[in-house]
Amino acid sequence: MMPERKQILGNAKRVLVKIGSGVLTGKDGLDLTIIDHLTDEIAGLSKEGYQFVIVSSGAIASGMHRMGFRTKLQSMPQKQAAAAIGQGRLMRVYSNAFGRHDMNVAQILLTMSDLTNRERFLNMRNTLSVLMEWNVIPIINENDTVAVEEIKFGDNDNLAAMMANIIEAHLFINLTNTAGLYDGSPGKGKKTRLIPLVREITEDIERVASDESDPSGTGGMKSKVLAAKKVTAFGIPCIIAPGKAKGIIQEILSGKDVGTLFLPMKEHMRSKQHWIAFTLRARGKILVDEGAERAIIHQGKSLLPSGITGTEGDFEVGDPVACVNLDGVVIAKGLTNYSAADINKIKGLRTSRIEQILGAKPYDEVIHRDNMAVQPRKTR
Ligand code: GLU
Repeated sequence: MMPERKQILGNAKRVLVKIGSGVLTGKDGLDLTIIDHLTDEIAGLSKEGYQFVIVSSGAIASGMHRMGFRTKLQSMPQKQAAAAIGQGRLMRVYSNAFGRHDMNVAQILLTMSDLTNRERFLNMRNTLSVLMEWNVIPIINENDTVAVEEIKFGDNDNLAAMMANIIEAHLFINLTNTAGLYDGSPGKGKKTRLIPLVREITEDIERVASDESDPSGTGGMKSKVLAAKKVTAFGIPCIIAPGKAKGIIQEILSGKDVGTLFLPMKEHMRSKQHWIAFTLRARGKILVDEGAERAIIHQGKSLLPSGITGTEGDFEVGDPVACVNLDGVVIAKGLTNYSAADINKIKGLRTSRIEQILGAKPYDEVIHRDNMAVQPRKTR
């Protein structure tokens, strides 16, 4: 048993468990045996003092099964209709399964737009904390019926990572239909091995993950590693583990060597910065010179007009924007105090000239440090 596992997993009490479609469904629709096993474990551990929040897929698969569809649905409205049919059934199954242990469940359906608004984000956090206080198990899914491309989480790995941040989970367990992350793509002639521990999500790790495709899930291993990156940047450890293995959650929490554990980053982001970095989508880019890049990355400084060389996109005051260096690499994201049009008038100039040119100087900084998240990646 690795010492890291015991230390990290031994202290986890608030746990986010994501259960993928590949785990929940068999060829006969929802796999009730697996759901019973998982709920037995979660209910048992809840009674020992653990708190669980579940992010569950399976609505579309269940709806398809109800309707007798065997081949993949093609159009978005068809998938949305299937989700509308399946979501109710999914909740009934969970409700019955937890009901055997006298526990209640709560359905929460979300789209990305519910989280990009800071107020709604905070409301959601309050609701979840009341549910947890009442010992009710929140079961979260994307609100597929209304979600169109621009407001979608993309996949439930992403949704689960954001929820882990919101509830300030001590651990994110991503249950999938593989044993974890492998060091190569299976079936390519080479022998592949399970990676038990990832200390840092390097480009190599991301590459290994994207080589591997998982036909049954939406995102495959790539989106699971991206989700791990999001939560570890917030200081939350993540484990990708086989959801169909009996007793898996207990094994994980007791520090047994199962799945792939991603260690949390030592210097992690605060909640607001994490929200800026991972929840908001950039509306445009601010191009910065080397001096500004150094000041942002190494000196913890705000972005001033003098270090800006240009902009891309048409953004307004308050919009999230990406700061891009001379190599085209995104080095930070933040909320801008000036519109693209105004930045182009003051770029390269000293702060003292802002008022003269724009007629007013609401802020010295184009992006204040408090509203900025430096990207968690290795820099030059
Ligand atoms: N929301 C989808 C469903 O319930 C699943 C999406 C995903 O697994 O990424 O069927």
